Amino acid sequence: MTFEQIKQSAGEHIMGTYARYDACIESGSGAVCKDVNGKEYIDFTSGIGVNSLGFADPEWVKAVSEQAGKLAHISNLYYTAPGVALAKALCERTGYSRVFFGNSGAEANEGAIKTARKYSFDKYGEGRADIVTLVNSFHGRTVTTLAATGQEVFHNYFFPFTEGFQHVPAGDFAALQLAAGPSVCAVMLEFVQGEGGVIPLDEGYVKQVADFCKERDILLIADEVQTGVGRTGKFLASEHFGVTPDITTLAKGLGGGLPIGAFLVGEKLKEVMGPSSHGTTFGMNPIVCAGANVVMGRTANEQFLREVTMKGEKIRACLTCCPEVAGTTGLGLMIGIQLKGKKSGDVAKACLEKGLLVLTAKEKVRLLPPLTITDEELSRGLQILWEVLNS
Ligand SMILES: *Cc1c(COP(=O)(O)O)cnc(C)c1O
Repeated sequence: MTFEQIKQSAGEHIMGTYARYDACIESGSGAVCKDVNGKEYIDFTSGIGVNSLGFADPEWVKAVSEQAGKLAHISNLYYTAPGVALAKALCERTGYSRVFFGNSGAEANEGAIKTARKYSFDKYGEGRADIVTLVNSFHGRTVTTLAATGQEVFHNYFFPFTEGFQHVPAGDFAALQLAAGPSVCAVMLEFVQGEGGVIPLDEGYVKQVADFCKERDILLIADEVQTGVGRTGKFLASEHFGVTPDITTLAKGLGGGLPIGAFLVGEKLKEVMGPSSHGTTFGMNPIVCAGANVVMGRTANEQFLREVTMKGEKIRACLTCCPEVAGTTGLGLMIGIQLKGKKSGDVAKACLEKGLLVLTAKEKVRLLPPLTITDEELSRGLQILWEVLNS
């Protein structure tokens, strides 16, 4: 099929929920992929922060294909070794006590919300189920995680949304204190708001919130679906802020390209979700977990994480010299580029033309390159980005 035929068939058969770029990607290796016409692109997106080891990482491919040949699935009614190994690796690396595996970020957040509400219900009874989240946050597309998302554009059409979510402006501790009354069981936040525009929270604010929550037995839920698993140069972004949330959710980068979500809890919550309280058919899939174990092995390594930080610094240093760039935001290899005059969507399209994939987040150009991107791939991509920004 030609590109035009693929595009037409997609239009005729796939729901129109996504505005796609004019490219059909067929294969990739490292941080370079190819479309069906053989055109090459440097990848500064990792999907959307998913392909943390790039395309077709040999160790990841080997683990996934071997597991596919051995056992693809057998339900959570039995033990399987890849998932158990992943759970151990995650708990050991993060200090958390228990993990639950689902299949996406939204599902991880749903699990976290259920856990927070059940903890509070078990201990305090009814009427303490509200969750405070931040304005401009993004927590997913299910009816409950849309309700959690602090952006009015998402609160449309699908009424009624799940009750019990309040949104307060990020960075405004007084507003959070005011909202977090006796009906509140948890505060949920992203350390760097991703979809909202790559906006890190203030460290002092995060510490204040964490202390406040601890005093009141309000659970702190960190949505690290985008920031987790090495993306920011630490294994968890919480390490930058010196706080230990009660619950951390992960997804995007954890599987290295296959669908996975996870939520992790500490000692205090480890018994909250007992038999039948939660579940999901595809969770802890052995193939997915085999891939995630390779991602864990590589990213939970201090030298690897230092390199992530250095690559991020290299990109920032390059962009800061660019006349069209008003500034950069984010942490590690999660980068927002504030533009002076150009529109982020136009920049993304022009980059695609010239062989570079980038993302946007609101008015910013957003970069989430594979954590394993090489210096040479970085330089090639930056050259294209620079040309587009200065044209
Ligand atoms: C992407 C994202 C989600 C939703 O993840 P899905 O896998 O699309 O459900 C939730 N929270 C944050 C912070 C995200 O970046």
